[in-house]
Amino acid sequence: MENLAFFSNQNSFISKSWAYLRNLKELFPSSPILLLTATCRQIDLQEITSRLEINYQQASLIRNISFEDNQIVYEVQKKKENKAQFLNEIINIYNEIETGKCIIYCPSVKGCENLIIELQTKISKEIIAMYHGELFAKQKSAVLFDWKSEKIRIMIATNAFGMGVNVPDVCIVIHTGFPMSISNLVQESGRADCDGLPAKAFIMYSRKDIRTIMGIYSNGQPSIDANEEGGEKESIERTKYLSEAKHKIREVLFYCSSIYQCRKKAIVDYFAWPENLASRECNICDNCLCRASDNPVWVDIRADVKKMLEIIKAITSERQQIIRNNVIDVFHQFQAKEIKNKFREMPVYLEKFSRKLKTKEDAFLLLDDLVLRDLVKEDIILTKSPTA
Ligand SMILES: [Zn+2]
Repeated sequence: MENLAFFSNQNSFISKSWAYLRNLKELFPSSPILLLTATCRQIDLQEITSRLEINYQQASLIRNISFEDNQIVYEVQKKKENKAQFLNEIINIYNEIETGKCIIYCPSVKGCENLIIELQTKISKEIIAMYHGELFAKQKSAVLFDWKSEKIRIMIATNAFGMGVNVPDVCIVIHTGFPMSISNLVQESGRADCDGLPAKAFIMYSRKDIRTIMGIYSNGQPSIDANEEGGEKESIERTKYLSEAKHKIREVLFYCSSIYQCRKKAIVDYFAWPENLASRECNICDNCLCRASDNPVWVDIRADVKKMLEIIKAITSERQQIIRNNVIDVFHQFQAKEIKNKFREMPVYLEKFSRKLKTKEDAFLLLDDLVLRDLVKEDIILTKSPTA
């Protein structure tokens, strides 16, 4: 048997890792390459083969879409601003299970540290633990031992937790903020594998999470000086990386803010390949239940779409930088004094228009949809005060 080389790289989708993988391919030109990932879309395979200069036709793919068959019920709710209400919601969700375990994901280490202190005032300290990448190796081992030995029932963690930790009785996974991407959502919520019994995956989200997640993406890739050797290429890679990060954030935001689209169907469709059969609605997620109770009807909103595009064109031709609220303020022709002062000279603000989208949430959803379809360019800029 020939020698077998095994390399592990957790972040294969950032620029330095691509260079590392290309080097390996050059060092072992005749070796077959096996890439393993929990989630792979067709565009991922295209990027991998292109980056590593592998003939797409020669790539073999073994994949198994199991999301549709899992027993997880997905639910999303807006995060309560009030701290006590937020904690009560978590406790209420946890109390739904009599046995089994619960993983609570926080976007940051700081978030984990705050949450464990707060939850320990409400739930027995002995059953809660915390896991994140900044713990010492010994601490991590001790926490994992307690988790596997049934001592701990609630794990508060960043997404550093979960890989390779398979325990069969996790019944609930709660994200207390945006997952980093739809892939993260699927992988992390997939840990709610309650012995094949129904399990639940919740997201509690707020638009403020965009700032936190964008900060994590930005810190994950150090800034690069374009004047350094090879710096220009790296700088282009970094711009691409951040642009993809923003797209991933928007996809999660759109998933969270959708109202009648089946959560599971949305996930299955996201990872679907052309040859896959049409997906089904689960009929038990929050959006499916909402659809059944509201009995919504299809409405033609083409005039609203056209109007919103006109507004964006008109405002951006006058101002260099605008924020999302500006578009929605004009779209709804809000009459607050400061809005009037800002836009009273603009015909798109003054023209009479009978919109079908009555609520602010619906208008934001349309704007998100236009951005995801690449009909509108939007940037996410981190400022001192959150405005996203
Ligand atoms: Zn559903």
